[in-house]
Amino acid sequence: MPTGIFFYYQQGERLRDFPQALGGILDKDTVLFYDAFYPSKPKSSFDLEPIPKDTLHTIHSPEMVERVEATGDYEGAVYSAAGTVAAAMRIWSGEITNAFVFTGYGDHHAGSNFFGGGCYFNGAALAIHELRGKFGLRRFAIIDTDAHHGDGTWELFENNPNVLYMCFCSGQFQEKNNNVNIRVPFRVNDSRYLALAKDAFERWCKTFQPEIIFWNWGYDGSAGEYGDIGLTPELHFQMARDIKHMAQEMCTGRLVVILCGGSRRKLASFLIPRIIEILTDQSE
Ligand SMILES: [Zn+2]
Ligand SMILES: [Zn+2]
Repeated sequence: MPTGIFFYYQQGERLRDFPQALGGILDKDTVLFYDAFYPSKPKSSFDLEPIPKDTLHTIHSPEMVERVEATGDYEGAVYSAAGTVAAAMRIWSGEITNAFVFTGYGDHHAGSNFFGGGCYFNGAALAIHELRGKFGLRRFAIIDTDAHHGDGTWELFENNPNVLYMCFCSGQFQEKNNNVNIRVPFRVNDSRYLALAKDAFERWCKTFQPEIIFWNWGYDGSAGEYGDIGLTPELHFQMARDIKHMAQEMCTGRLVVILCGGSRRKLASFLIPRIIEILTDQSE
């Protein structure tokens, strides 16, 4: 089954080379392209629908939603989260196996009544709510390898043992109701990071057995980025392979990759196409 690419056309620097930087990937018959409001749509596109306010209110307080509206970024925030929700729905319905979601604004700093750090709505939390309500799924995993602590996601799930939230960041080790904070040293290298991740996956993910995995993938921990902890591009590719394998073992490959932190345009246009190729590659 194909990989879905959920595209949000963002003003600004980081994604300026997209979707062109995806090159021939869009022509593959193992790829379906869905987009929000990009003007020249490839043939295989499907429009994304915005998330209704009632649905937003299942996760975020009405007062917070109003504050997001006041920022002027509401439309982008809604379409960013809409990509994640649509990806999860289409994976569950069997239209696609896995997905890469381009976001302008998302995900892990958005809690029930607060937002920040460029995150307005928590797309993974909204998707989990919809999967539970519409299809009765019960066990969800979120793997967060953005360089920063996902305070929003943590708050939303700290009292919910049916969601395994694994946050890799420089904060202290914590564990509460299947929310786990895995401490990454402030300076780390790829092999140390991969060893930490492997250990954490063995310890928590494999016993938890999720029905679908969300990967909050940020590249802001890359060397030269604003959250630099010393990671190279190869780390991101290896993590993509490892998480994809884990999803194949545990939940027939169901995986939603959500673009989180990272600012450099060059890195985006180098890393993202290769991550998507790993998702689409039937032999990986
Ligand atoms: Zn970050
Ligand atoms: Zn954390």
